[in-house]
Amino acid sequence: MSVDWSSRLATQAQARRADGLWRQRRTWRPAGEVCGSARRGDARHDFAGNDYLGLAGDPRLAEAMAAGARRYGAGARASHLVSGHLEVHEALERRLAALTGRPRALLFSTGYMANLGTLQALCDADTRVFQDRLNHASLLDGAALAGSASRRFHHRDLADLERLLARAPTEAPRLVVSDGVFSMDGDVADIAGLAAMAHRHNAWLMIDDAHGLGVLGEHGDGCVGRAHDVDEVPVLVGTLGKALGTGGAFVAGSEALIEHLIQFARPYVYTTAQPPGVAAATLAALGILAAEPERRTRLASLIARFRAEAARLGLPLAASHTPIQPLVLGDSHRVMAWAERLAARGLSVGAIREPTVPRGQARLRLTLSAAHADDDLDALLEGLAACQAEDTRSPERVARAGEAAP
Ligand SMILES: *Cc1c(COP(=O)(O)O)cnc(C)c1O
Repeated sequence: MSVDWSSRLATQAQARRADGLWRQRRTWRPAGEVCGSARRGDARHDFAGNDYLGLAGDPRLAEAMAAGARRYGAGARASHLVSGHLEVHEALERRLAALTGRPRALLFSTGYMANLGTLQALCDADTRVFQDRLNHASLLDGAALAGSASRRFHHRDLADLERLLARAPTEAPRLVVSDGVFSMDGDVADIAGLAAMAHRHNAWLMIDDAHGLGVLGEHGDGCVGRAHDVDEVPVLVGTLGKALGTGGAFVAGSEALIEHLIQFARPYVYTTAQPPGVAAATLAALGILAAEPERRTRLASLIARFRAEAARLGLPLAASHTPIQPLVLGDSHRVMAWAERLAARGLSVGAIREPTVPRGQARLRLTLSAAHADDDLDALLEGLAACQAEDTRSPERVARAGEAAP
């Protein structure tokens, strides 16, 4: 009997809606030019993005992108190994290696692909991969692509990791994998602890510092960067679409690691090189990162102010000192109701539900940016206080509003 695809899709859609997990995209339509303005041109207060340093709308990046396109063309025309590897890519790789204190770096088109490619090239069915429970989906998918089963240790729990490492067959190559800054929680991995543990068990350590790069570290070099060398953290992944405001990603490490990825990482080999204008804009972003440390100072003071005032309001703050500030509300309907109310006030926030986070831990994911003005933060705090007041007034209406929400 043939499969009825229409009813199969309808059944799955129905189940997802019933669980309050239906996801919808909102189309943003800027009223004016975004570049050079702290807002997205439509007077919204954006607390959902990952533009931590406010670089995505910086006119200098747009200029560099246009200049790169004029010089090299809008597209790279081919993959890196054919004829798409341009001098601007090479320059960016050198700059990223220098920023992170590694011998070499290799550009990928996205962070998702960097993680897929790295795990697929390093691992196979005999490899043992150990992952923090809260690792990003791309890390889990990368191990699956490699045909390796991932053993998942409790979040930031070195003793649990050690228990799993001790059980692995001695002859199996081992790779310990963790986010640097956890993307939905904002807390930071214990890099030194992980490095020592990996070393003791003859494992390599891979850190995905997507949300730390540009924000943490003495030079904005992330939670690994120059503070933890290539012996401690042999495999370092960074993404460029977050604090650096552009797009793409890189892996940094030894000469041997980078050459191995060039040979074997299929998501590197079989894809068109990043558009050269994007690489040129990222070089501009790295220049600004070095020249304007005040962006990081501003971000730190916004984080401190948000935490102090949210604590005063009695909001359920998480143990995060990064720009990712989740408010774990628990129930996904409640999260949707808060997000809708905040949207009505022109506040855009992330409404995060399962499967992105475990069931019962649905949350608003608020992110701060150096581009926020004091009155953006005022508006956010007022909006959150209003949501809280509304919940106390009519808890049942909250549940119903959540069900009706998209
Ligand atoms: C965003 C993110 C990625 C994916 O990066 P993209 O460049 O957006 O594909 C990978 N890892 C983590 C931890 C992330 O937060």
